[in-house]
Amino acid sequence: MAAASKPGNDPMLINNADFCVKHNAQLIAAVIEQLFEELKYSFKETGKVSDDILAALNNVFDATLVPALDLVDNCSVTVLTCPAGRHVYQVIGSSGTPYTCLVSCQYCSCPAYRFSVLKKEDHVMCKHVLAVKLSNAMGVTKELQVTDAEIGRMISQME
Ligand SMILES: [Zn+2]
Repeated sequence: MAAASKPGNDPMLINNADFCVKHNAQLIAAVIEQLFEELKYSFKETGKVSDDILAALNNVFDATLVPALDLVDNCSVTVLTCPAGRHVYQVIGSSGTPYTCLVSCQYCSCPAYRFSVLKKEDHVMCKHVLAVKLSNAMGVTKELQVTDAEIGRMISQME
């Protein structure tokens, strides 16, 4: 059974690897949530992002962090709510293009979401979703009331 001894041919090993990937993703998600909680608390207390939290965020998000912080600085994040109680986020990208984000599933209508997050899986989230999470943690998200139809239209345009 020479073939079975190769790691790639062992179904148990494949399952284990699969389990590890899923387990890691859950762990990373928990660490990220914890980081945003700390950011929320520290920003409320001090009005700024501490160096420790910034370094930790940078470790997780790497090159996505600075552009996301720029979006927050430029007040590019708006939460759109409608009378029916639904809400979506709109982030105006650096080139002025508006993107629709759903934070619960980390969806964004931008190309980076499709290529880097979904396809290549080398990013946890795109800069727009990260900007929404940062903006919410800092309490600087703008709010806008829109109609039920408008939110429905935005959701129906999602891919
Ligand atoms: Zn995006």
